[in-house]
Amino acid sequence: MTPRAVAVVGGGISGLVAAYRLRRSLGPAARIVVLERSSRLGGKLRTVPLAGDPVDVGAEAFIARRPEVAELAAELGLADRIVYPSGARPLLYAGSQLHPLPSSTLMGIPASAQSLAGLVDDRTLARIAAEPTVPLHWERGSDVSVAELVGARFGEQVVRRSVDPLLGGVYSGLSDTAGVRATLPTLAAALDAGATSLSEAVTRAMPAPSDAPVFGTLREGYGVLLEALVSAADAEFLYGTAASGLRRIGEKWSIDPVGEVDGVVLAVPAPDAARLLADSVRPAAQCLAQIPPASSVVVALAFPHDADLPQNSGILVATGEELSAKAFTLSSRKWPHLAERPVALARASFGRFGDDALVDAPETELIALARADLATLTGVDAEPVDAFVQRWHGGLPQYREHHGEIVAALEAEIAGIDGLEIAGAMLHGVGVPACVATGTAAAARLAARMAG
Ligand SMILES: Cc1cc2nc3c(=O)[nH]c(=O)nc-3n(C[C@H](O)[C@H](O)[C@H](O)COP(=O)(O)OP(=O)(O)OC[C@H]3O[C@@H](n4cnc5c(N)ncnc54)[C@H](O)[C@@H]3O)c2cc1C
Repeated sequence: MTPRAVAVVGGGISGLVAAYRLRRSLGPAARIVVLERSSRLGGKLRTVPLAGDPVDVGAEAFIARRPEVAELAAELGLADRIVYPSGARPLLYAGSQLHPLPSSTLMGIPASAQSLAGLVDDRTLARIAAEPTVPLHWERGSDVSVAELVGARFGEQVVRRSVDPLLGGVYSGLSDTAGVRATLPTLAAALDAGATSLSEAVTRAMPAPSDAPVFGTLREGYGVLLEALVSAADAEFLYGTAASGLRRIGEKWSIDPVGEVDGVVLAVPAPDAARLLADSVRPAAQCLAQIPPASSVVVALAFPHDADLPQNSGILVATGEELSAKAFTLSSRKWPHLAERPVALARASFGRFGDDALVDAPETELIALARADLATLTGVDAEPVDAFVQRWHGGLPQYREHHGEIVAALEAEIAGIDGLEIAGAMLHGVGVPACVATGTAAAARLAARMAG
């Protein structure tokens, strides 16, 4: 039998995991080609030198309560590279003041007024306290934006001061562009199950308390995971090569510039996947076109070691404050392994959904904005010894209302087509663990079909 040939389109984490899993299941003789439009692999994972040592300027962590990244790292011999945060708590900047990040909330949505005391005004606190007495109309299986649900029950201040900063950190969006069902599935389940108020639904949806660390990362950054995947995938990597012209030819697929292959995994952002499928699988392309991306910028800063960063893991910024940044990670405080470095590290994030002008601002301006905002928030006004600006155009897919239905329709379309699979951040979670899971699942389905 002639060896199988597959094309993986997109060299981000989803595509690299798919290529690696396909190598494992198809064996050494298979031809695996990874097409990557840019000049480097990793997509939204990127590790660069800053003041001489590696730092991540895309994703900086992963949810450690999901197993995928730790399992992958262990398989690749990197288990001992995983490290955990210091336990320092973040701050929240709202109403021109720093507050401790409220505890006992679900993505900033409180279960009781007590958890937002000091952050929102007395009127809002009274409204939260009274919410369980106000009849709730929730139609089972329905969906609304998080802003609409929380705003209607608790008021606008809760949305802008408590929920936006947390959701913005994960999705680069605001609560307005986040659907309840896709971004807070346990909350939607509690509402479907008959919770009589939002407070009750939040209480039911909150994860059980645990001492296990929420986040993990890799000591030398995600770069080591990417290198290990590239090596284990043993694929042909075509850099600077955008896939195009995807079409079905008999039992096979043709994709430019590779030619005929037995199977294709699309692991590119939704708008790119929509373009690739526009002619061959139009209904799938139409689903993908409904998942818009949001752009962002990360400015990584290295200060002299004695820069007096506060003893907090980061600072989230509420919507509507007179600052440009939406969040800071105080990396040297958050991660003990970074505290050992000879510099003090911080990273600023800019850009929310629709904020493209800021994302395209000149580097010098972005560094100046990051420094000015950090000075406002912390008083640290030191001259950085190094800085790195990373723009993420189309960085994160927005999980709007009915996202789950769109993805279900997309996956049903793709499932009916032999030899075509899809993976990536637009499907079942934007986090790295979810992306790893989609790459693994896509490779497993393709390998099973090719074997059958
Ligand atoms: C600033 C930022 C911070 C983040 N922080 C975290 C975090 O701390 N923790 C976490 O878990 N997640 C985080 N995320 C999310 C996570 O990093 C991403 O969702 C994930 O890395 C996306 O991986 P992917 O492979 O699906 O897509 P991508 O990384 O977007 O990779 C897709 C690749 O496809 C390529 N491509 C596109 N079109 C074509 C084409 N036609 N032909 C060939 N190649 C093409 C692109 O160049 C890209 O390399 C963050 C994201 C951003 C932007």
